[in-house]
Amino acid sequence: MKTLNDFDFSGKRALIRVDYNVPLNDELEVTDNTRIEAAKPTIMHILNQGGSCVLMSHLGRPKAKESEFSLSHIVDTVSQVLGVPVAFVADCIGDQVENALAQLPQGGVLLLENLRYYPEEEQGDHEFAKALSKWGDIYVNDAFGTAHRAHASTAIIAENFKGQCCFGTLLASEITNVNKVMHHGEAPVTAIIGGAKVSSKITIIERILDSVDHLIIGGGMAFTFIKAQGGSIGNSLVEDDKQALALSILDKAKEKGVRVHLPTDTVITQEFNNQAYTEIAPIHTIPDEWMGLDAGPETRKNFAAVISQSKTILFNGPVGVFEMSTFAHGTIALCEAIAEATKNGAFSLVGGGDSVAAVKQFNYGEKVSYVSTGGGAMLEMLEGKTLPGIAAILNA
Ligand code: AMP
Repeated sequence: MKTLNDFDFSGKRALIRVDYNVPLNDELEVTDNTRIEAAKPTIMHILNQGGSCVLMSHLGRPKAKESEFSLSHIVDTVSQVLGVPVAFVADCIGDQVENALAQLPQGGVLLLENLRYYPEEEQGDHEFAKALSKWGDIYVNDAFGTAHRAHASTAIIAENFKGQCCFGTLLASEITNVNKVMHHGEAPVTAIIGGAKVSSKITIIERILDSVDHLIIGGGMAFTFIKAQGGSIGNSLVEDDKQALALSILDKAKEKGVRVHLPTDTVITQEFNNQAYTEIAPIHTIPDEWMGLDAGPETRKNFAAVISQSKTILFNGPVGVFEMSTFAHGTIALCEAIAEATKNGAFSLVGGGDSVAAVKQFNYGEKVSYVSTGGGAMLEMLEGKTLPGIAAILNA
């Protein structure tokens, strides 16, 4: 895997695909600069070696060249985060960029306009990729959030940089950390798969059965398994057409020697709101009209016991409706158990969608080993797919 360390950037211009698809408020100010911070190590590495940086990104989903999607709105924030001046050019290909580069001092940083102002970007157009490739001697991909797209700037462009392209620091660490769980995890390896639906997690579950010793299934998706086993789940979330699949997963897990842990009790309620009256029920005997919205106290204890024995932990999907404080206790208990195991030497990866939001919301971001930055991209990696943005560099 080629990284920044394989190149000497001094006197060179790096063309870096970053993920600056950041949220803006109505005044078009950046409201969360996590992604701008995330790309900083790569940019500073190159600047510190005496290289120049041309940054390219998309922002939102423009249909034409609507001004609210202009990356000009984020230039000041990028400059503040990096602590260096950042120039901006109102196009990403053509003469304007040529002129801006002619004025860019050695060691300078230039941000190009939104790549998606050109439909060719998402089409993965080879000519567009070639036009972009003129702006750098070395191509660096550090945009993990879009690595699962075969777009011009994320994948196709690499064909113009044979032997002259690499992963940035962020993308390289995402790859290394997911491999730590999927291929080189110290045993026992435990995956916690929660969230709403079996259907959205099925590929991951099937894939990770080859990598894990323990599989904890929680959240809404657990009820499909419980019903398939003959349990009464009241009004809890269920995908009836996935019951057979759930049973076949349990069979496969048994064949592979993976121990599956399902909830044994649950916090039940009759109303889906934070003020609702709640009770605790055994998971197999939820009364009619009631639904389970969080892991019960016994389940929390059981799950924590498995986690405390684990040396490698993947957390993907909350075990309750954590957005409401009444039903967040299970997910918080899980975060606490993962933090404790991490403190005792386990490697823990939080990745893919809502578990990242939960870990951040409950302030466990610093207490786990790694929090992935890419929702969809991380999910596809865990599903075992080769991401186009990664393959392009490996093959170039
Ligand atoms: P996902 O995007 O598939 O990871 O699902 C995350 C969502 O699952 C969150 O919004 C949770 O509120 C929801 N969820 C977790 N547990 C339950 C449950 N028992 N019933 C309904 N929704 C749940």
